[in-house]
Amino acid sequence: MDETPRQILHRIFGYDRFRGAQAEIIEQVMKGGDALVLMPTGGGKSLCYQIPALLRPGVGVVVSPLIALMQDQVDALTQLGVRAAFLNSSLTPEQARSVEQAMQTGALDLVYVAPERLLTERFLSLLERIPVALFAIDEAHCVSQWGHDFRPEYIQLDLLHARWPQVPRIALTATADVPTRNEIVTRLRLEQAGQFVSSFDRPNIRYRIVEKANPRQQLLAFLRREHPGDAGIVYCLSRKRVEETAVYLQGQGFAALPYHAGLSAQTRRDHQARFLREEGVIMVATIAFGMGIDKPDVRFVAHLDLPKSLESYYQETGRAGRDGQPANAWMAYGLSDVVMLRRFIEDSDADEHFKRIELHKLDGMLGYCETTECRRQVMLNYFSESLPAPCGNCDTCLEPVETWDGTVAAQKALSCIYRTGQRFGSAYLTEVLLGKSSERIRRVGHDQVSTFGIGRELSADQWRSVYRQLVAAGLAAVDMEGHGALRLTETSRPLLRGERGIRLRRDPDRQKATRAARAP
Ligand code: ADP
Ligand code: ZN
Repeated sequence: MDETPRQILHRIFGYDRFRGAQAEIIEQVMKGGDALVLMPTGGGKSLCYQIPALLRPGVGVVVSPLIALMQDQVDALTQLGVRAAFLNSSLTPEQARSVEQAMQTGALDLVYVAPERLLTERFLSLLERIPVALFAIDEAHCVSQWGHDFRPEYIQLDLLHARWPQVPRIALTATADVPTRNEIVTRLRLEQAGQFVSSFDRPNIRYRIVEKANPRQQLLAFLRREHPGDAGIVYCLSRKRVEETAVYLQGQGFAALPYHAGLSAQTRRDHQARFLREEGVIMVATIAFGMGIDKPDVRFVAHLDLPKSLESYYQETGRAGRDGQPANAWMAYGLSDVVMLRRFIEDSDADEHFKRIELHKLDGMLGYCETTECRRQVMLNYFSESLPAPCGNCDTCLEPVETWDGTVAAQKALSCIYRTGQRFGSAYLTEVLLGKSSERIRRVGHDQVSTFGIGRELSADQWRSVYRQLVAAGLAAVDMEGHGALRLTETSRPLLRGERGIRLRRDPDRQKATRAARAP
């Protein structure tokens, strides 16, 4: 008698019941249909192809870009008694030949293969000689040219459909946004596939953002207060900041390790292995780290720099709390991040269309940072999912943000941009508003403009917060020609003319926050 998927789940994997849509997905693939699976990290995507591969005749071919993790995945399966192997550039020619041999003799249920290896004529013709149970295309968002995980080889995976029309294909990803989803469908020819979209909510993750003042000290205070001895990831934008932050945390007694693409492959492997195996290791990393990392007890993900999109933020924070226990997603955010990311985008060699999309994504990220509403609702909404009520587990839910009528302040801030010729950044504009008579201000005659000293009712921090919110709302724009200078936009005018008002969030006093961060 053939076993049922449920029996395999129990006998091989030791679980009692399927989670979420697993059972339906497995049923779809079992009957030979294609499937597109969108499930958050930790949702249990692997079983969706592993179980059909065990039950259907032939070998299940899993395409994965994560060469570094194939060994771990195969080891884990082998321990469960599953006949699995992998093929990638880390094998010697003899090892690779013996895996191919095993495929031909029907001795394997699952083979993990890197896309460039799959696409070789040698491997494709091998596949033509043996029964194939299914093709699983893991990390399917790698086919998207707009994402930072783009792999050109993924585009060619449409040949699987052309050459094996009768073999079911299952594409899996934790990237949820609709444009990426559509791109996967068209590029991989999954028009006929059943789509299985799970909720992307990760209710055990608490989302929080602090205003960036002294980010390292703020991070330190956060770690000391909430995560002594915990494993976690600290994301930074640049390699340099990764190095500095790792050294700083080591000096403060944390087991912190750096990880970025500039380190040798050996060092990266070592650090990753220590992070996975030892307790309480903090990985300080660029986005080079994390895809496919399966460590259930990551208790926090901290961002010292702003990610460039909400998708990235969701992916990166999604590495926390995969065991379902409470976890923190914490970020320090300031206007300088926005300026820097915009400059990256504008200065890149990409075409205009690409830049527009990137800028649009960045706006989504800013909207999330500046919201006065439930962050989880904003995030899920961005992924076209709606959460009926505020979550109660994010900073804006836990400590509702005070707002104030910022109309007059915004008018002053915008006219100061205008009066000084739309050539200066927020720090300088703030000085003019406060009436600071610096040498630079006097030299260009800005102590004579009508906005000089008209903003003494607010502090420098408050003005910076006003400018940040104006930029986030598109009421002022960062001008890349002018190194982060602010300029007016089409939408500035109605506000300047008093035809509309604006409510701003009241950010906590930064000096108070910094004092708190210094306290032991
Ligand atoms: P993903 O690939 O979606 O990030 P995984 O397939 O690695 O997630 O699964 C995440 C964890 O959940 C793994 O430890 C896995 O064994 C476990 N898991 C998956 N399905 C089930 C289930 N039905 N019951 C219990 N645990 C499960
Ligand atoms: Zn909330």
